[in-house]
Amino acid sequence: MPTQRRANGGNEHPFRQSGHSQAQPHQMNTPKRSSRTAGAYRGSGRSQQPHRTSVKAGKSSSSRPASTGPRRGFGPVVLAAIAVVVIIVVVLVVRGCSGTSNQQKTAAPADNPGDIVMTLGGDEDTYVLKGEDYIGGGCHAVEPEDGDITSSIVTEGEVDTSKPGDYTVTYTASSSQGYVAKKQRTVHVVESMDEQETGIPVLMYHYIYTASDVPEMTDDNRGNYLLDTDLEEQLQYLTENDFYYPSYEEVRAFIEGKHTLPKNSIVLTFDDGESGFLKYGIPMLEKYKVPATSFIICSDEDAEDDIITYASEYVSFQSHSYDMHQDGLSWGYRGIMGHMGEDEIYNDLVKAQKVLGTSDAFAYPYGYYTDQGKAAAERAGISCSFIIFNDWARIGDNPQALPRVRVSGDTSIEGFKWACTNTIQDRGVPAA
Ligand SMILES: [Zn+2]
Repeated sequence: MPTQRRANGGNEHPFRQSGHSQAQPHQMNTPKRSSRTAGAYRGSGRSQQPHRTSVKAGKSSSSRPASTGPRRGFGPVVLAAIAVVVIIVVVLVVRGCSGTSNQQKTAAPADNPGDIVMTLGGDEDTYVLKGEDYIGGGCHAVEPEDGDITSSIVTEGEVDTSKPGDYTVTYTASSSQGYVAKKQRTVHVVESMDEQETGIPVLMYHYIYTASDVPEMTDDNRGNYLLDTDLEEQLQYLTENDFYYPSYEEVRAFIEGKHTLPKNSIVLTFDDGESGFLKYGIPMLEKYKVPATSFIICSDEDAEDDIITYASEYVSFQSHSYDMHQDGLSWGYRGIMGHMGEDEIYNDLVKAQKVLGTSDAFAYPYGYYTDQGKAAAERAGISCSFIIFNDWARIGDNPQALPRVRVSGDTSIEGFKWACTNTIQDRGVPAA
């Protein structure tokens, strides 16, 4: 919040940034004006801006290229200005030629990421079929002092989906104290791919525990607890079989029949922001580099702290409502939403978004949803909302009411593999 002005943070180091991106081999052809045509760039988030825009923003305040400097006959002042520009350009070229991005990271204080944590939406290797839109999953960033610094992110990189190849998109976040962190996404534009057909499994987990830290379980909630070693076995399987983790924007376009996803696409979600997940689940996701979503109840007193304390490159915190995770006799076990109008639900969702700094996804508390809820979620700009019918989310479904596949404490590894690769057919039967 305190760093909106840094939305154009690139202004401070325009040369370094463009030098950095030009140092990327994939971008050799990007400065040309003509290349981005067939596959239109579809910006999909706060931070998702085309390359050219951010570079332009960077140049606008503090530097003027030689070609736009002197017009005609201004004498010594202009010569001096040209000399300065030439020196800067020489420095830039030297840095661009000799420095790898790693070297640059340690070269200057401004390249010190401090405690900034950046989280990409979806996989850091994004796959796009030639000719289709590149749907950027965006990037989110937090820092302990500043909180959410997503608005500081400058996005650079251009993807031409008419030309197969690998492209790099670089996200740069900066904090009010001058820390600067970078995160890259490699976009693979491919001629063809094995496609994900029919739908996509969105896994629904709850709580994680370890053999040495066993929580109290009741017969009612026992199924929600998964041993960390079982989670590990599942993540191992996903990793060894090259599963792909699309962003919610990609999932939505896929569900709407507008976008192709690679075979073995999957989404992992963990409900309720429970402490065992935060303590044991997140490190496991990091170990296997598997991106996942933590659906948190934003009115929980720890919610705002947890987002910072447990910030992870691999975990996106999304909405499990602000304060609609309430059941009880007066509302019935299905929760409170059934007794709320669209405006009330919308206001709750927006409140949650203010805590999270994102609006990518929403999990209905208890999986209970209404027409008013779906309308409110759409109005709140949420890409995908999830219920708990035990099924894959399928092409043609309403993106504001997508089923999920439940992973329970007693799910065997064979059952898990089956659920990840075979469309479940018992649509319409609520999970236990
Ligand atoms: Zn819940």
